[in-house]
Amino acid sequence: MFTAFLIKYAEIGVKGKNRYLFEDALVHQIKSALKKCDGQFEVSKTQGRIYVEAQGEFDYEETVDRLRHVFGISSVCPMVYVEDQGFEKLCDTVIRYFGDVYPDRNKTFKVNTRRARKSYPKESMEVNADLGEALLNAYPELHVDVREPEIMLNVEIREKIYIYSVEIPGPGGMPVGTGGKAMLLLSGGIDSPVAGYMIAKRGVKIDAVYFHAPPYTSERAKQKVVDLARIVSGYTGPIYLHVINFTDIQLYIHEKCPHEELTIIMRRYMMRIAEHIAEETGCLGLITGESIGQVASQTLNSLIATNEVCRLPVYRPLIGFDKQEIVEVSNRIGTFETSIQPYEDCCTIFVAKHPVTKPNLNVIRRHEHNLDERIEELVKTALETDELIIVE
Ligand code: ATP
Ligand code: MG
Repeated sequence: MFTAFLIKYAEIGVKGKNRYLFEDALVHQIKSALKKCDGQFEVSKTQGRIYVEAQGEFDYEETVDRLRHVFGISSVCPMVYVEDQGFEKLCDTVIRYFGDVYPDRNKTFKVNTRRARKSYPKESMEVNADLGEALLNAYPELHVDVREPEIMLNVEIREKIYIYSVEIPGPGGMPVGTGGKAMLLLSGGIDSPVAGYMIAKRGVKIDAVYFHAPPYTSERAKQKVVDLARIVSGYTGPIYLHVINFTDIQLYIHEKCPHEELTIIMRRYMMRIAEHIAEETGCLGLITGESIGQVASQTLNSLIATNEVCRLPVYRPLIGFDKQEIVEVSNRIGTFETSIQPYEDCCTIFVAKHPVTKPNLNVIRRHEHNLDERIEELVKTALETDELIIVE
């Protein structure tokens, strides 16, 4: 029955000169999200509101689901719209609407009219009263409550007349693209997809890099990362995923450095390479799924060591989250089931029995010099063989 949607968005960051940038970005994101749906849609921006109108047949459930993934949307209101064919007709439409949407009519309600077309013959207060009366006549179980109605029946009079009363929550946040771009270090774990989601929610476009180590990590492990990127791209739009072959670097570190420092030194090389790609591709920061104390490489001391090698800011949105809290978000956004598939990631194979939890920076730097002979060439090769996968 619904044929259009009113898109509500949060007012944060929407003030003044930036408002139209925010709205244009949101319209753009909505259009690209709806491209994947069956049906044709017209997305328009009028008088500080965004409307989506279906042009003919469309899949309602799928459309709502797509819209619920678009950052910047605070809620989606499915609407019915009709040509203005006089007030009698409007009453009929509203009564029918009510009957269809609310099979149980033992409810309180209020009619809220917005008369955007000032030439409409009735004033909004009059429309409220007359439609309210028509509804009460049609459904005697109904009651009016103007303070805290269970149902707020909104009627918008523009060129056509729009009716809505249902509000479906959206993801909130800012439209992707309004906040620049950042590079996500995406592993196959639970944390990093959630970290990418959270930064993208603030309007940041996401590129990603994955370090794999064939044959120590399998094709299937890589596919899992592509699958995760695909789920995240349902919110963020297309993700440029760089797959870096890390095997030779890892083996070289393994050969030349103390085993308890392996993870830290490896992480430092991941950060260096990620930053290199980030700078080449216009990213303004790095994103990781680190959380204080989760593993040895995520103590404050270890974080100093991984942080030291980058100039770009490293965004760690999960830094103060417990695992359980991360799992909750992961479930909500739909990455959890994929994240827990049992394919090894590159860290699990080169893990020391007793990794350092308080690495000493001077010691780490000194041991990294053991790599001087070949590391530059290995990093160069890794960067040259970067495999770019566009995930959407
Ligand atoms: P996750 O659940 O995201 O895998 P984790 O708890 O396994 O995180 P670590 O393995 O210590 O933690 O990794 C910390 C962060 O480093 C990850 O969140 C991710 O951002 C990055 N990272 C780790 N391994 C890789 C990899 N193979 N490719 C890309 N990034 C990685
Ligand atoms: Mg991991």
